[in-house]
Amino acid sequence: MATSPGHVAVLGAGPVGLDAALAATDAGLSVTVYEAGAAVGAHVRAWGHVRLFTPWRLNASARMRTHLAGAGRDLPEDAAYPTGTELADHLLGPLAGLPALAGRVRLGHRVAAVARASLLKHEHIGSSTRAAAPFRLLVDGPDGEYEDHAGLVLDCTGTYATPNSLGDGGIAARGERALAHRITRTLPPLTAEPDRWAGTVLLVGAGKSAQTAARGLAELPGTRLEWLVRSPDPDWGEVPDDSLPERQRLVDVSRDLAAGGHERVTVRTGARVTALAPDAGGRVRAAVSTATGPHEIVADHVVALTGYAADSALYRQLQVHECYATGAPMNVSAALLGSAGGDCLAQPAVGLETLRNPEPGFYILGAKSYGRLNTFLLRGGYAQVDEVAAAWA
Ligand SMILES: Cc1cc2nc3c(=O)[nH]c(=O)nc-3n(C[C@H](O)[C@H](O)[C@H](O)COP(=O)(O)OP(=O)(O)OC[C@H]3O[C@@H](n4cnc5c(N)ncnc54)[C@H](O)[C@@H]3O)c2cc1C
Repeated sequence: MATSPGHVAVLGAGPVGLDAALAATDAGLSVTVYEAGAAVGAHVRAWGHVRLFTPWRLNASARMRTHLAGAGRDLPEDAAYPTGTELADHLLGPLAGLPALAGRVRLGHRVAAVARASLLKHEHIGSSTRAAAPFRLLVDGPDGEYEDHAGLVLDCTGTYATPNSLGDGGIAARGERALAHRITRTLPPLTAEPDRWAGTVLLVGAGKSAQTAARGLAELPGTRLEWLVRSPDPDWGEVPDDSLPERQRLVDVSRDLAAGGHERVTVRTGARVTALAPDAGGRVRAAVSTATGPHEIVADHVVALTGYAADSALYRQLQVHECYATGAPMNVSAALLGSAGGDCLAQPAVGLETLRNPEPGFYILGAKSYGRLNTFLLRGGYAQVDEVAAAWA
């Protein structure tokens, strides 16, 4: 299955990958979208029960809307808030079914690695020789591995498959690796299976995913929640005068839970998990340190929602300058870190020069381009696609 060197390879059929694929076809380029999952939007579907805090107005790009309208398909009203499943059902699935993308999206095809044909990572640094060589993609498909070639590669593979450890300093706590099979690291569909969460749940993390999980767990009558938060004085990522009411609601609930507003919930701030161990009854014992001293928590379930990191293994043989702090491409990271605080709506537009890597023709777009920064919004990803598409035009 080798494709021509002038071809665009889009890695990942999430919202940003599909938008990028449409932009490529609009520009008259040939494109293949490789999607590891069994359906487009596999990551979005994995958190499909979660309601987005951004309304439809911000969740579909102008390009997506134009294509869907051309096929006689409408999106739900702008002001409504979809769940992940609704986003996939009303937006991503229909996009993949458009004639523009027909036959171009390969489901169940995971890109294992990308390199520059005949060149090693350290060769021809900053030279146009690299741009002249096609990319070589190693792909795991349903019928085994194969290789493809492309002239341009857009890595839109997201970060949802690479969660962080729950231990202090971001590496595993003692015993965490041995108990990996007992730790849930994605946002579970709590209301769909309340009995599964009966007993004590140890929740670690303080971002929007952890806040969403805490809110859901607090509502389950058979669940006692022990919530560990690293900051001694969390601000819950509150944005002053937040224009996104759903985001503000999460902050309000978290603050209420931390203030002791719920009898089945204990929130410990300034907390670190120092060790995890199995106990004789099949539960997990967590040694926890807080400002008030050490504690032991015995839990039936452990949920770690401590953020995600971008997986750079895919492009290890390419010349990508990563930020030593965020793992995002250096220029994108610098632009984001230098910008206004934590409001994702206030993130700066990231131009084409910022998106370029030392490796010519290789772009990291979407959630992955933010590395460990958790301020990514779909709107920002679509703006990145616009930048790349403008260069094609
Ligand atoms: C719980 C949650 C709630 C969120 N809520 C909002 C919100 O309200 N508003 C908002 O704007 N943003 C929100 N986000 C942030 C962000 O918009 C989403 O994470 C969004 O899905 C990112 O889109 P993406 O296309 O960059 O990546 P993803 O959606 O992560 O898509 C990446 C795709 O690549 C595929 N893939 C991965 N590895 C490979 C590989 N090696 N080869 C081929 N395919 C691969 C995956 O299967 C996946 O389909 C939320 C994120 C989470 C986790």
